[in-house]
This record gives sequence, structure tokens and C-alpha cells, in this order.
Amino acid sequence: MSLRIGHGVDAHRLAEGRPLMLGGVEVPHGRGLLGHSDGDVACHALASALLGAAGLGTLGERFPSSDERWRDIAGADLLGAVGVMLADRRATVLSAQVVVIAEEPRLQPHLSEMARLMARALGLPAGTVAVSATTTDGLGATGRGEGIAASAVALLDVPA
Ligand code: MG
Repeated sequence: MSLRIGHGVDAHRLAEGRPLMLGGVEVPHGRGLLGHSDGDVACHALASALLGAAGLGTLGERFPSSDERWRDIAGADLLGAVGVMLADRRATVLSAQVVVIAEEPRLQPHLSEMARLMARALGLPAGTVAVSATTTDGLGATGRGEGIAASAVALLDVPA
């Protein structure tokens, strides 16, 4: 077994008139995340961690914002595309964890659904992806509610 870890981080700004997509779940909130895509920071951080662990480069390299194919791509669809890349590389995801950093809304009721949807998008057994959430106690941009961030780690078996 050739174990590799990956770490991904993402943040997007909150804006009026957008659905809030996190981990593939539409979370009821007055504002949503702005982005070239749907701004799903949980999916983006996880995708970044997975690509990094597999040695497949960065999210920006793999999904350039200049490429119309990826315009408005849903986070879950982006994870699906990463899942195909991992399969091509014969990489196996052993476990992953995503932490969403948001002052509001309260995410606890949605965490298990986010974990389920992200694992499914990647074609992984339920339970492979764990999701938690935290606030920054009012500190910084996430604390002021200007945006939402996420951090993810992943452990993969990547054959040499
Ligand atoms: Mg992003």
C-alpha cells in the first residue's frame, strides 16, 4: 500500500440572490456563495485534497475557470469528475474529512447529508467522507459572515 495524504482549502464570498450549496446540499439561507461555479467550498476543498493526494495537480489546473465546460458546475459534479480522475490513476480513497467554517447558518442538521452526497458523488462507500462544521467565534471574514470557508484532508492509496 502506498499511502498519500492531501489537504485542500477553499473560501468564497456570500452574496444575495444565490442558493447556498455546501457539500452538494442546498442549505436554506438568505445568501449563497459567489463563484465561477456554484461556490460549493466543501466540495472544492475536498476535490483539492483528493487531487493533491493523488498527485494529480491542483483544482485550478484541472478545472480552469477559463474553460467553459466548468462554468457553473455543481460541486457534486466536480467531485464526480475528480472520482473519474482518481479511478484512472487507480487511486483508492480510504477516508476524508471536510470542515466547513461558517458563522451562520447552523450547519449541524445538514452535515450527514453532505457527507452522504459527497461520498456518493465520488462513488465511495457511505462513511468514507466525514463532515463537521465550526465557527470562528466572530473573528475574521468568516466570523463577520462575509463568506464561508472549508478545509479538507484525505488519505488515499495511490499505487506507484
Ligand atoms: Mg472554490
